[in-house]
Amino acid sequence: MNTENIGMLVRVDACLGCQACQVACREENGFGYDELWMEMIRRKPQKVAGELRNYHVGAPQLDKCAACTEKNHRPLCVSVCPTKCLYVGKKDALLAVMEGPGHWNLHV
Ligand code: SF4
Ligand code: SF4
Repeated sequence: MNTENIGMLVRVDACLGCQACQVACREENGFGYDELWMEMIRRKPQKVAGELRNYHVGAPQLDKCAACTEKNHRPLCVSVCPTKCLYVGKKDALLAVMEGPGHWNLHV
């Protein structure tokens, strides 16, 4: 899978900002503390369409994710997410997920 076909999707109204995904990425790939392949940027709640909601943003290095998901189609960042709001995979699949309810942040 090359980076043109891959993305990361977060359902922002379900994301707790716990950063378990960020920790799991290091665990999955074994890189040192001087590197960060994926950051979950924690932000203050924002008003969206008149409602106050969380809006944490995933910032992955998608070239790393492309190689990682080739080895493991369900990487640890996804499987540890307590609210199951994180998806990494092919853009087509992510766009299909976005048709479901919720508010989404897509990183491609
Ligand atoms: S897909 Fe792999 S490289 Fe990308 S954030 Fe998840 S664990 Fe890290
Ligand atoms: S593990 Fe899930 S809930 Fe926690 S910060 Fe990552 S995407 Fe959000």
